[in-house]
Amino acid sequence: MTRLHAQPGPITAPATSIFSEPYWEGCARGELRFQRCMSCSHPVHTPAAVCSACGADTLVWESSSGTGVIHSYTIVWRPVTQDFQVPYAPAIIELSEGWFLLTCVIDCETEALFVGAAVEISFHATADGVTLPYARLK
Ligand SMILES: [Zn+2]
Repeated sequence: MTRLHAQPGPITAPATSIFSEPYWEGCARGELRFQRCMSCSHPVHTPAAVCSACGADTLVWESSSGTGVIHSYTIVWRPVTQDFQVPYAPAIIELSEGWFLLTCVIDCETEALFVGAAVEISFHATADGVTLPYARLK
């Protein structure tokens, strides 16, 4: 059995933009945010200027419940860079609002992961001062 943890050391900080700043500000406050199209109600992530479903520029920010299920995952034993401590478990989480978030699952054994497992989002500050959302099994 091998336990999964949030990355303990400095890792490459995500690049922010004028579109993603509200998302990262939400993470810093412990709030998972996504955009919703006011024209067609489609949830949008990653942050964008226009709706990925209908092209309208009527996106507004909403707070997510932070709950969902594992849609897909893998366990990484060989890091892409030496910044990452292994193992870690990148996962695509389907949030209850119907949008998808790529993150990592933490605070469980690698053997506990399965597609469909219920998760909740928790936030962890990196050594760089950026706060990242992670998923934990419920
Ligand atoms: Zn739309």
